[in-house]
Amino acid sequence: MKRTDFSEVGHTGGKATFSIRCDEEGRVSYQIGYSHSSPRPMSLVGVYAHPDGFACGNIVLGGIGQPWNPPPLPNCIAVFMASDSQGKFGHECPECKKHFRTDNIPSKFPLTCPYCGLRAESFHFLTPPQKAYIAHYVESLNRALIEVPAGAAAEVVIDMDVIADSVTDEPRPDFYYTSTTQQTEFKCAVCNSYNDIRGRYGYCASCGWRNTSESQKVAQDRIRDQIKSGVLSASDAVKQAVSEFDSAARDFADQLTTRIPMKESRRKPFEGLLFHNLDKFDGLMKTCFDIDLLKGMSADHDFVRLMFLRRHVYEHDGGVATRRYVANSGDTQTEEGVLIRETVENAHRFIGCLNRMVATLEKDFHEIFKPEPFCIDIENERKTRMGKRNS
Ligand SMILES: [Zn+2]
Ligand SMILES: [Zn+2]
Repeated sequence: MKRTDFSEVGHTGGKATFSIRCDEEGRVSYQIGYSHSSPRPMSLVGVYAHPDGFACGNIVLGGIGQPWNPPPLPNCIAVFMASDSQGKFGHECPECKKHFRTDNIPSKFPLTCPYCGLRAESFHFLTPPQKAYIAHYVESLNRALIEVPAGAAAEVVIDMDVIADSVTDEPRPDFYYTSTTQQTEFKCAVCNSYNDIRGRYGYCASCGWRNTSESQKVAQDRIRDQIKSGVLSASDAVKQAVSEFDSAARDFADQLTTRIPMKESRRKPFEGLLFHNLDKFDGLMKTCFDIDLLKGMSADHDFVRLMFLRRHVYEHDGGVATRRYVANSGDTQTEEGVLIRETVENAHRFIGCLNRMVATLEKDFHEIFKPEPFCIDIENERKTRMGKRNS
């Protein structure tokens, strides 16, 4: 099913219930529960709230009988929060204010903003409506605790089902938090976590690995398939492959130049840089970041340069070899004025080289911006188990 960008995903529903008792001496105690009965998917997380109504920590909800982690401050209130109706949670970055979705408000590892890379405990990424829910929850409990008479019991329910199921045009209360679909859903290639982000490229919110290389690899595989099925000519494939490479290279360069403090004179050459100007791009990456784009590719260097020059001819000169092409390419087989006939073998080899360069960029990039290992370790353990089972 095709989804629509930036459409609302409703709350999954459920009921938060406070059961309060006040004994004859006026001592008040309470229990909190959360129940869910709709067929919609649900995940439940816990957040510690300050008695004034704001989140101040995550709760590690262990298995049955396992104690929770202690609250960061005395008198904290445990707030249960359910997911949206697809089992996901919306987040808002406290730094860049942009939204994204994952399948958790994690308590055992921090979140990484897919856009600006900020890494912090997940309660810092609550959206304004989620914060309103927490404030409402704490206020409802506090009011009930004050109002319950000595020797009596009371029950207070925050019923999200009633609001989730209502189809009226009435404005919904502030504390009814929903989430919003973004534009690109992906499972992280290294930790397998779900992400939903605006745009195409971003950090996995769970481990901080950037999806750029994986995304470009998928696109290049699609181009290979189109060459094989004859949908795309070899020369058109070269044009498209370079366009994919350019966008991935631009993404890495943008992240490096925005996140690493640099003198303006260092940053300047990256503005308007054409990434298929291989020698210039390679030189800048080496001098600014010690990233060797063509590491281990000495045998392919001349070929890659040649193909970038051919791309220019296909894109701008109608496929006819220009004087510049003949002078700079080292292609001794081609005379000025003839049509260049691209081969399928060249297109495939070139795509392989582009993938390799982006893979090098990715590896060196994450040597600078290290991922958060928690989810990667779990995924690697899972893969090992699966491997053992299948062998
Ligand atoms: Zn951010
Ligand atoms: Zn990940």
